[in-house]
Amino acid sequence: MNLTIPDFQHLQYGTLYCIGRNYSEHIEEMKSEKTADPVVFLKPRSSIIHSGDSIVIPPVSSDVHFEAELVILIGSKTKNISEENALSSIEAFGIGIDMTARDIQSIAKEKGLPWTLAKGFETFAPLGNFHKYSSDIDLQKLSLELRVNGDVHQSDTTSKMIFSISQLISYLSKHFTLYPGDLIFTGTPKGVGQIKPGDKIEATLSEKLSSLSVDVSK
Ligand code: MG
Repeated sequence: MNLTIPDFQHLQYGTLYCIGRNYSEHIEEMKSEKTADPVVFLKPRSSIIHSGDSIVIPPVSSDVHFEAELVILIGSKTKNISEENALSSIEAFGIGIDMTARDIQSIAKEKGLPWTLAKGFETFAPLGNFHKYSSDIDLQKLSLELRVNGDVHQSDTTSKMIFSISQLISYLSKHFTLYPGDLIFTGTPKGVGQIKPGDKIEATLSEKLSSLSVDVSK
């Protein structure tokens, strides 16, 4: 894949950090439990696709779900940053989908094993365009919407996040060094669901800031 970020060509995609269980109503629909600290997992860069591309359901899964999420693009090397200063590390933000092989994830959860396989298949990180961040944009007041074949399945607001963007960046930077080009998938609100071959998936962030359209290959 081409690692250059389409709208920010001075950057290349780095590590894909993902946050789980960051919206209460999604935790309820998954019958999961809240955690004291953010749940962190990773995806490989090879899972990235863009608008116009197709999601491929891997032959080893029969239950692949969409999870629409606000995605943060890091613009500067960041280590041990305070919550107060955390937003200064953001270059841009956009809509993304944390595709998940739910059947494989469920088995991993039962056995206490990592989620990497369930989350990391090729095409499992569709990304919309990135919108340049500026401090007059309130990242906790964005709307997220995901439609399947025109029907709205997820429609929510980033104000419902349990851990804010500032808290997530500060937390991640305590444990890891964030680099320009790294991405943070910040968790999904309620309404996740299964995709099937032929579906058209569209997702938007505050209607116009970022959008994404992919189909599911047959
Ligand atoms: Mg997710």
